[in-house]
Amino acid sequence: MSASAAPRGFAGRFYTDHRTRSVYAEGAGPYRIVPAAVALPDDLDDVVALVRTAVDRGWVLIPRGAGSGIPGNNVGAGVVVDVRRLRRPLTVSKSDRYATVGAAVTWRQLDDAAATVGLRLPPDPSSSAFCTTGGMIATNAAGSRSVRHGPIRAWVRAIELVTGQGVPIRIGATDPSVPEFLTTVDSEIRAAAELVRARFPRTRKNTAGYALDAYLQSGCATDLVVGSEGTLGIITEIELHLARRPAAVAGLLVALPDVSTLTDAVHTLLPLRPAALELLDRSFLRIAEYTSDLPIQDWAGVLMIDFEGTRDEVDHAVHLAREDVRPFAAHVRTALDPGEHADLWQLRHAASPVLARLPDTRRSLQIIEDGCVPVARLSEYLTGVHQVADDIGVEIVAFGHAGDGHLHVNALIDTTDPSCTDKLESLLEQTTALVIECGGTPSGEHGDGRLRAQAVERLYGTDLLALFGRLKSAFDPAGVLNPGVIVTQQGGSPLEGLKVGPRAALIPRDVAAGLRQIERTGGWGHSPLELLHDPKPR
Ligand SMILES: Cc1cc2nc3c(=O)[nH]c(=O)nc-3n(C[C@H](O)[C@H](O)[C@H](O)COP(=O)(O)OP(=O)(O)OC[C@H]3O[C@@H](n4cnc5c(N)ncnc54)[C@H](O)[C@@H]3O)c2cc1C
Repeated sequence: MSASAAPRGFAGRFYTDHRTRSVYAEGAGPYRIVPAAVALPDDLDDVVALVRTAVDRGWVLIPRGAGSGIPGNNVGAGVVVDVRRLRRPLTVSKSDRYATVGAAVTWRQLDDAAATVGLRLPPDPSSSAFCTTGGMIATNAAGSRSVRHGPIRAWVRAIELVTGQGVPIRIGATDPSVPEFLTTVDSEIRAAAELVRARFPRTRKNTAGYALDAYLQSGCATDLVVGSEGTLGIITEIELHLARRPAAVAGLLVALPDVSTLTDAVHTLLPLRPAALELLDRSFLRIAEYTSDLPIQDWAGVLMIDFEGTRDEVDHAVHLAREDVRPFAAHVRTALDPGEHADLWQLRHAASPVLARLPDTRRSLQIIEDGCVPVARLSEYLTGVHQVADDIGVEIVAFGHAGDGHLHVNALIDTTDPSCTDKLESLLEQTTALVIECGGTPSGEHGDGRLRAQAVERLYGTDLLALFGRLKSAFDPAGVLNPGVIVTQQGGSPLEGLKVGPRAALIPRDVAAGLRQIERTGGWGHSPLELLHDPKPR
C-alpha cells in the first residue's frame, strides 16, 4: 500500500519518511511492521478526512493510542493513526459521577482529575500510567481490581467514534437506539442468540472476537465497540462512569505450597469480594528481586489479596480471609496499615527489573500472555502451560489475575536459537489448544490483535466468525480499519513480522535501540516522535 500525501484539508501531521515510519513499527507486543505512513490528526474533522481518504484511495488505517497494546493490534503495514494529538477534553461531573475524556487522555490523567473530587475509574491496568482511555475502550482493558469492578466495559457511558465510512456517531446512554446502519446485523445477532450462548466461553473475562454476548444483554452499540481493537471505528471521545474512592485498603499474602491448592484457595476467597486477587507463580518468584524475610523461592506460588471499604470492613475481611484460606496455605502474612501494604505489593513488581535487564539475545515475548479459563480450571491450566513450555524447551514467567482465572505468561527466548520461531509457534499452538480445552479464551484482556486472530474461528466456529465479519462490514464496508485484527482470512504463521530474530524488519539502528529502551523502561507515555531528532511533517 502506498500513501504518499496527506488528505486534502488535513490539519494534523502526516509523515511518509522511513525514519518516522520506523518509530511506529513496534508496540509493546512481539511485532515489528513498518507502516506505509503515519498520521496524527488534530481533531474530529481530521479523523473524518483521514477515513474518507482511506476509503477513496484504498488505504488501511491502524488506530493507535500509547502503543502499549500487546497482540499486534497497534501496528501494521497501512497508515498508523496516532490519536495522541487529538484535542483532550477532560471534565469530571462530581454530582453525576462521570467523566468526559478525549480518547488520548490516559488512565492516570483521568484518575488524577477524578481524585480531586473523591472519585476514580476502578478498572486499573498495570499500564495505567500511559495507556489511553481510547486504547482501553478498544481493548476492553482490565486490571487487578477487575475481579471486583469488572473490565472497563461496565464503566462506559457513551462513545463518540468515526465509523469506517467516515461518519462521526455518538452511541450509548445519551442515545441507546440501534444506529440505522446496524439494523440488519442487529437482527442477525439476535437470531444467533442460541449460538452465542453455546459458543462464548464461560469465563469472567474475554476479549476474543466481538462481544455479542454483552450486546445481546444490553442492546447497546457501545458493547460492540468496546473491545473492537480499532476495527469498527476511531474513537475520539468517551464518557465513563466513576466510583467513590474507598476509605481504606488492606490485604494479605498467601503462600501456596502446591499449585493444586490454587483453585481451592481462589474459590475460598472470592465470596469475600476481594478488590484484587493476584497470582505470582513460582516461575515469577524464582526471578523476583524482593528483599524480605519471606522464603518466596520455596513456594509454588503466592496470592496477593486486597480488600477495600471502611477501616472496619477491610480489617474484618482480612481477618476472615486469613482464617478461611489457612487450610490451603503454606504461610499467610497480613498487611493492615498502608506501609505494610505498600511493602507487600512491591513483590508484584519485583520481576520487572530483571526482565528489563535481559540482554538483546534473550527477550521476554508475549505470545501466550492472555489465557483466561473458568476459575475451576485454573490449576489445571497453569500446570498444563508449564508442561507445554517444558516439553518445547522454552522458559516462561507466569503471573496474573487469579480471581478471574486469568494468567499472563511471558516466554523468555534465546533469539540466537535457530529454532526459536518454531518453538514459539508450537507454544502458541499448544497453549491455544489447552486454553480452549479448559473452556477458556486465549484473549482475556488484551484482545486478539494479529497474534490471535486465527484463534477466533477456532474458539467460536465458522458461523460466528462469519457473523463477526458482517458486523465488521456494517461499521466498515470498505474494510479500511485495522484489517487482519480480530477477523482474518489469512492463513500462514501469526508470528510473521516478529521484532526479534534475523528476519525482523530493518529499521535504523538508533530507532531500534530507542524502541528497545521504551520496552525496557515502560516508556509508552512518550510519543515515538521523540525518538527522532528532526521529524519532517509533510
Ligand atoms: C507494562 C504493560 C502492562 C499492561 N498491563 C495491562 C493490564 O493490566 N490490563 C490490560 O487490560 N492491559 C494491559 N496492558 C496492555 C495495554 O496497556 C492495554 O491494552 C491498553 O488498553 C492499550 O492502550 P493504548 O493506549 O496503549 O492503546 P494501543 O496499544 O495504542 O492500541 C491498542 C488497541 O486499541 C486500538 N485503539 C487505540 N486507540 C484507539 C482509538 N482512539 N480508537 C480506536 N481504536 C483505538 C488500537 O487500534 C489497538 O487495536 C499492558 C501493557 C504493558 C506494556
